Amino acid sequence: MALDTEQPDSPPAIEPRSLRPTGDTDYLPAHGGGVFTTNLNKVTDWARANSLWPALFGLACCAIEMMATSASRWDLARFGAEVYRASPRQSDLMIVAGRVSVKMAPVVRQIYDQMPDPKWVIAMGACASTGGVFNNYAVVQGVDQVVPVDVYVPGCPPTPDMLMYGFTMLQEKIRKGLPPASDLMAMDRGRV
Ligand code: SF4
Repeated sequence: MALDTEQPDSPPAIEPRSLRPTGDTDYLPAHGGGVFTTNLNKVTDWARANSLWPALFGLACCAIEMMATSASRWDLARFGAEVYRASPRQSDLMIVAGRVSVKMAPVVRQIYDQMPDPKWVIAMGACASTGGVFNNYAVVQGVDQVVPVDVYVPGCPPTPDMLMYGFTMLQEKIRKGLPPASDLMAMDRGRV
């Protein structure tokens, strides 16, 4: 059977897209635009959840994974948290990435105290969460002995994906208006 090799004389014309006549509002929903209601708390929680600024510090091997989380492959910037601040006074998120030695504990606490409220803490990895394999006198057996923790991320080391999952859990918590762990601790002690 002979193949049809005949070529069209000219390419098909592409019709220009017609513009809707002014006043044609058929495409709008029946209610004509609608009304969006919210309250200030919800807007504030939404803004806070999407603009977390982590403090720029790392303690051990987990910190390398934390750095990778901000790099191009995982790109934490998609969640609004790429701005690691070199000053705790401009940070509202502490990611404890690595084991906390007893000697380092006061420094971690000082950085935490210098962060303005409200503030949140992610314990990244087995060491920060529980001391990990370092069950000895030199390592704090869980950073929650030093600062109140909002989210624990397991693993040794946790992958960047795991940290991002923990981060999105924290965002969810903030969006729902749940209080930071620091507030809960203060409530426990009758300070609020
Ligand atoms: S959890 Fe593992 S990777 Fe993270 S600081 Fe401890 S030993 Fe290092």
